[in-house]
Amino acid sequence: MRLPSKVHIMDVGPRDGFQVERDWIPTDRKIEVINALARTGVPAIQATSFVHPKAVPQLADAEEVMTRITRVPGCRYQVLLPPTLKGLQRALALPCKPDCVEIFMSVSESHNRANVNRSIEESMREVDQMVPLTREAGLELSGGLSTSFGCPFEGDVPLEQLDRVVERWMKTGVRAFTLGDTTGVGNPKQVYNVCAHLLDKYPGVQLALHPHNTRGMALAAVVAAMQAGVTRFDASVGGLGGCPYAPGATGNVATEDLVNMLHEMGVETGIDLDALIAVAKTLQEIVPHQLESSLVRAGKRTDLKPAPKAQEKGEFLSYRHVPLTGRG
Ligand code: ZN
Repeated sequence: MRLPSKVHIMDVGPRDGFQVERDWIPTDRKIEVINALARTGVPAIQATSFVHPKAVPQLADAEEVMTRITRVPGCRYQVLLPPTLKGLQRALALPCKPDCVEIFMSVSESHNRANVNRSIEESMREVDQMVPLTREAGLELSGGLSTSFGCPFEGDVPLEQLDRVVERWMKTGVRAFTLGDTTGVGNPKQVYNVCAHLLDKYPGVQLALHPHNTRGMALAAVVAAMQAGVTRFDASVGGLGGCPYAPGATGNVATEDLVNMLHEMGVETGIDLDALIAVAKTLQEIVPHQLESSLVRAGKRTDLKPAPKAQEKGEFLSYRHVPLTGRG
């Protein structure tokens, strides 16, 4: 199997994860998680979002978070912006600006309306104004394209529709896109085909995949995307996350599960997996529900257990070998 030697991972847990938590997470705890994540060597963190505080009350402390985090050299801090000037103005007013911003919109009209209450073209007209301001401020910019692989309201999203949105974005000069599988519907073959299509049709574009593990296909989707040439992935520590406007959506693939899979296959991430698992375990004390993390549950392959002593082993085997007649 041909795989890249190294991939770039952005942890979006502090935004995609925290935004759907119902109980208020104190700002200090958010900052603690972001700082701990940065110390794992993760090259990028989506730290918060400048959406309207009424829409996402959990992220109403975006300014405070961005001002008080301890920036770790080598880590890039991104904020997510809705396609509105207001959100960008808040980000630009910060004394410590983010390194990069992602402006999100949906590829399907109905999801875009549900998410930002306007049409795709209306959103794009805001983006037209936002791009030059972002450039002047020296911030990297990417377009976040939600529902790239399917929409919870419309079902399949035709490739032509994705092309139309990408081409409209390219008119603004933007060449970096994150393909969001908002509700985790993209199967690996589809993810491969969509990514290969875009990379082939639009040479020079930079693609990232933002997979949600709603239907258990996220890691398979990552492998498929790598086969197509994608080397940038979003993931969420502890598998936190969802989408407030996509009913039934669950979190991103857990960053530690993704890093574990990549390292096991010899693909570098620059991330200290043990430190990352420790962050996920801290998170388990912050959120009041079970994390969707295989690594937190099962540990690494190399976390060996002591073999049972001879007598215990015998008992164990005899217990195991009575499933048809005994309790199994
Ligand atoms: Zn997401």
